[in-house]
Amino acid sequence: MAAALVLAWRAGWYLLLGLAATTLLQAVAPVTATWLTKLVLDEIAAPGSDTGGLLLLGGGLALAGAATLLLPAAAQYLNSEIQRRVGLLSQDELFAAVERFVGLARFENPAFLDRLRLAQQSGGQTPAMVVAGVFTLGSGTVTVLGYLGSLVVVSPWMALAVLLSAVPVLIAELRLSRRRAALMWRIGPVERREIFFRELLADVRAAKELRLFGISAYLRERMTRERRTANAEHRRMDRRQLAVQSGLGLFSAAVAGAGLVWVVLAAAEGRLTVGDISLFVGAVTGVQSALVQLVREVSLAHQQLLMFDHYLQVVGSEPDLPVAARPRPVPPLRRGIEFRDVWFRYSPEHPWTLRGVDLVIPHGRSVALVGRNGAGKSTLVKLLCRMYDPERGAVLWDGVDLREMDPAELRRRIGAVFQDYMEYDLTARENIGLGDVARLRAGDDAAVRAAAERAGAHAIVAGLPRGYDTLLTRMFFDGDQDAESGVPLSGGQWQRVALARAYLRGERDLLILDEPSSGLDAEAEYEIHTGLREHRRGRTSLLISHRLGAVRDADRIVVLEEGRVVESGDHAELMAAGGVYARLFGMQARGYQEAAALPGLGEAP
Ligand code: ADP
Ligand code: MG
Repeated sequence: MAAALVLAWRAGWYLLLGLAATTLLQAVAPVTATWLTKLVLDEIAAPGSDTGGLLLLGGGLALAGAATLLLPAAAQYLNSEIQRRVGLLSQDELFAAVERFVGLARFENPAFLDRLRLAQQSGGQTPAMVVAGVFTLGSGTVTVLGYLGSLVVVSPWMALAVLLSAVPVLIAELRLSRRRAALMWRIGPVERREIFFRELLADVRAAKELRLFGISAYLRERMTRERRTANAEHRRMDRRQLAVQSGLGLFSAAVAGAGLVWVVLAAAEGRLTVGDISLFVGAVTGVQSALVQLVREVSLAHQQLLMFDHYLQVVGSEPDLPVAARPRPVPPLRRGIEFRDVWFRYSPEHPWTLRGVDLVIPHGRSVALVGRNGAGKSTLVKLLCRMYDPERGAVLWDGVDLREMDPAELRRRIGAVFQDYMEYDLTARENIGLGDVARLRAGDDAAVRAAAERAGAHAIVAGLPRGYDTLLTRMFFDGDQDAESGVPLSGGQWQRVALARAYLRGERDLLILDEPSSGLDAEAEYEIHTGLREHRRGRTSLLISHRLGAVRDADRIVVLEEGRVVESGDHAELMAAGGVYARLFGMQARGYQEAAALPGLGEAP
């Protein structure tokens, strides 16, 4: 709770103080009004009343009434402003924490992603609600004490009666709130499933299959079933609440009624004044409603605090990969990169993906990595960029373990096209420019265009309705451009844009290309690989491709099978060895020849 309050304080301490003052005044106003009413009535009932005093009391009453009307609006404004600021601050801190995650493991952990989602929700809401809860608690206490204090002056017995009548209300409301918190927790998974189905039914990417396979009705039934389950739980809770609160209402009415009869009788006997009656009535209703409101706010804040824990855990989480306390600098690559007996698995429950990989990428040489789907090629790339650490063995940069370096500095020396590269819902210029944010910010359009030309993306972009300013998306960003001017690219076109992004990074120490041409047509692929060959000459690079024709002139070809290096050498050596590579190469070459022999099937993949 302290953490939530600290966050609210940092978001705007003077707002918090303002809210505290407003809340205090708000708490005092009704008590004052009730007390003043009593005094007015007593004054009027007394023989020979003092007009001046009455006027003064009346003015006081009007002031208290005005305060009661105005203060809630002021409090609401302050509370909203606090909520806005906390929302901004907490979101920024949350994603700053996410940015600090060095590796990928957290993003692949569903439990963590769920927590992140809850953290996003609660980070912005909780502090403001806790603030409201604390202040309501404070003001409620002041109100209750004020009423009781006034009553004690008149009759201690009356104060006791009012206090006792509130106890069952308090207990019942607290139990209700605890049940409600448990309910929210219990139906959390049900609601998450419902959201999943709902989003799936409205997803563009799913729409094709949903229609062709006729899946929609099935998913809709599942969505409805989850909602029914949640509704049933809520209904049961609401009915319980209805029963409890009706009972409490009757009880309170009975207590108030009995008290009233007693007070009226006492007044008739002259032991109490007319003013005392009005004070009693005001105090009973005031105390009871203050307590109910207080318990509700506190329980709401309590529920929120349970959620806020997720926020705290994300913001305070340990680094996912050990970061060297004093990282070694990452000098320009001189000798090369070495995998030394690297063992890796995604988690202890997963099988080994890399089993003792030994591999050298010498400086200034092009290395090609080939192997079946699932052999571990993309995993090797991720280790090279230190998205994960090996479980055994090490990846060395000029002999220095990657773990001793600052990951950000290491990554600045690497250019890459990942197999699952990103398609950003941004303009074409940004999609390429993000490869070198400094140049993008500086507005270096010439560099963007040059990179696009080299990747064969310029012709595509130039043909778009707004050229480099075209949004590559179906999404609609209001105010920026109209929806019609957004253009989604095809898979192969995207791939060239991704390649252009890597080219824009320019001279880096290592270029990694993981299947950079898998989505391209034969002609484009030929073009790209010719360009790449040119580009890779004399540069340190790692190319992964299932198209063996594209890798044959690499300085060194490495064959990976089930996480092990089974062959390596240049094309001629591997062909001569007659192993896996030679067999695969022969197969692909034959495939092309056979295809070429069939009219009309010239370039079947
Ligand atoms: P390749 O790129 O050679 O086709 P990958 O390196 O992508 O192969 O995958 C190697 C193996 O690791 C596969 O069996 C795959 O299922 C598994 N794998 C890949 N990514 C993950 C992940 N994030 N979590 C668990 N297993 C993974
Ligand atoms: Mg792969």
